[in-house]
Amino acid sequence: MSGIYIHIPFCKQACHYCDFHFSTQLGKKEAMVNAIAKELVLRKTEVDDEVETIYFGGGTPSLLSNEEIEGLIQAVYDNYKVIDAPEITLEANPDDLVSSRAQSRDLFSEYKKAGINRLSIGIQSFFEEDLKLMNRAHNAGEAEECIKEATQYFDNITIDLIYGIPGMDNARWKANIQKALDFGLPHISSYALTVEPRTALKKFIEKGVVSDVDDEQAQAQFHILVDVLEEEGFINYEISNFGKPGFFSKNNTSYWLGKTYLGVGPSAHSFDGTQRSWNIRNNPTYIKKIEEGMLPMEIETLSKNDRYNEYVMTGLRTIWGVDLGRIASEFGENYLKYLNQQSSKFLEQGLLVVDDGKLLTTKKGKFLADGIASDLFMLNLK
Ligand code: SF4
Repeated sequence: MSGIYIHIPFCKQACHYCDFHFSTQLGKKEAMVNAIAKELVLRKTEVDDEVETIYFGGGTPSLLSNEEIEGLIQAVYDNYKVIDAPEITLEANPDDLVSSRAQSRDLFSEYKKAGINRLSIGIQSFFEEDLKLMNRAHNAGEAEECIKEATQYFDNITIDLIYGIPGMDNARWKANIQKALDFGLPHISSYALTVEPRTALKKFIEKGVVSDVDDEQAQAQFHILVDVLEEEGFINYEISNFGKPGFFSKNNTSYWLGKTYLGVGPSAHSFDGTQRSWNIRNNPTYIKKIEEGMLPMEIETLSKNDRYNEYVMTGLRTIWGVDLGRIASEFGENYLKYLNQQSSKFLEQGLLVVDDGKLLTTKKGKFLADGIASDLFMLNLK
């Protein structure tokens, strides 16, 4: 089974913390949608399996018209084998969903008609001060209104929330989580605010306009999140993802389980089982190359060490863990020996545990999973 990821590289305005690929110049939207549809045609021979998930990410896919969304879904059906009832997710921003109540009702019905069956809404916070600090295009009222409306039409909704925001104390963070719970949503994705190079947030922190993010605050807020959501029946199936049973993201789960996927649109990544490729992060060049029938991408073949490192990283981030038997059979006994050696100190510290032949992060170790994984990476062994 495969997934198709469609990157829509446009946003209304730049959030201060964001380093994804997007442009606020919407003039080329139509040409971009045509180019993405053409890329789907150009690459159809790359996917032999049936397509199980289609994911519109960005950027802001809710800036597309319903016809544009429908056209791209149709292009997938026209060129690929798609299973019955695939998961089709659309990332949407609150301000696009609530321009007026009547309009949003039409919009949700149209999304459903087009085949969208899962909405991922970029809420980030229900509080004005956080939204302003991050330069989100929506306000607190729109954050709540859009969920109220969306839940009339969709069962399968996820929202994004950000913790570790400067100035957001634990009480406000708990209130954010509670607001999400009050809507009865089956899935929440939540990320620590990170300061990426070349972002406005980075500059503001350097100039002292905004206080720096605080690791201890982020860690404390992550633990609050895990405790509250687990108490409410959510499963923290990946560090940043919490789902009620039956509502895990099929799209993201397939990435973490190492399945193949095709990513189209500028900056989109693809994985065919042995090679990773990524499209150019430049809208005009992407459109021009695709119009000329060329694929503007770079390709990298994963070495055995790369595959081992990726497996260890994703394994420690998810409830599926790192299968020690698979390490031995797929990579060899020397990799297993190395992993056992490197992981022993984390096992002693109670940050990792071995359960039923799987190496897993404990509750205490979960927030530190990326750092722990990097200590288990294979760097020089041939
Ligand atoms: S809407 Fe999303 S992709 Fe666009 S700037 Fe904000 S965080 Fe980045």
